[in-house]
Amino acid sequence: APSKTILTVNNIEVIYDHVILVLKGVSLEVPEGGIVALLGANGAGKSTTLKSISNLLRAERGEVTKGSIHFEGNQVDRLTPNDLVKQGVVQVMEGRHCFEHLTIEDNLLTGAYTRKDGRTAVQQDLDMVYDYFPRLRERRLSLAGYTSGGEQQMCAIGRALMSRPKMILLDEPSMGLAPQLVEEIFEIVKKLNETEGVSFLLAEQNTNVALRYADYGYILENGRVVLDGEAATLRDNEDVKEFYLGVS
Ligand code: ATP
Repeated sequence: APSKTILTVNNIEVIYDHVILVLKGVSLEVPEGGIVALLGANGAGKSTTLKSISNLLRAERGEVTKGSIHFEGNQVDRLTPNDLVKQGVVQVMEGRHCFEHLTIEDNLLTGAYTRKDGRTAVQQDLDMVYDYFPRLRERRLSLAGYTSGGEQQMCAIGRALMSRPKMILLDEPSMGLAPQLVEEIFEIVKKLNETEGVSFLLAEQNTNVALRYADYGYILENGRVVLDGEAATLRDNEDVKEFYLGVS
């Protein structure tokens, strides 16, 4: 059966500092329960696209000046990041952004701040996060600043999970991590998708790994989508092979 669309980005344009046009009409869709990859070189506009959706652009003097964004059929481009979290959309920023002076567990608990369903439910979700990330359980009392890059990335994803999201916007999960850890993190993304039904839109420069785990991909160049398709189709595309997979 054709799946429902959970997120629709329609022809958005983004301008920084009132003059710098960075997204020049980007459209994309994420099906409910899908994993969609946003691919492209450094500076192509992947992070900007994610931040337009989560509404984190304003802090960087960026603005969506054209187009629209709908989540579950509701227009969301005027919502605050907080209200979006309440609707079920949460972003995991590039560079992880854990609170270094807090323990892993306290970091995870900060992710539950929008919830009003009480301590028992939050404790259950903490256990759920630890089941997905056994390393975080082992390190729960360590200060995040003293854990490894991989553990901090897991902490950032775990914290996002604590808000019980329907959709996670994941920015460069592979950045700075050893290949084995990258696989470990993508395996968990896949499992969260299959088991909890979380939809993902993930930005990745690592095209190879992203296209192995995603269902569908969009390739951005200079603020425009230049190619999109099923992940398997993109993997076999000669241009993708040559320019993004380093084989031909
Ligand atoms: P990266 O992997 O480096 O994050 P990206 O594909 O996510 O790359 P963006 O970070 O979205 O790309 O950046 C797209 C373009 O917008 C780049 O040319 C960048 O220099 C520019 N840009 C990003 N943030 C700002 C800002 N706050 N002010 C002005 N220009 C910006």
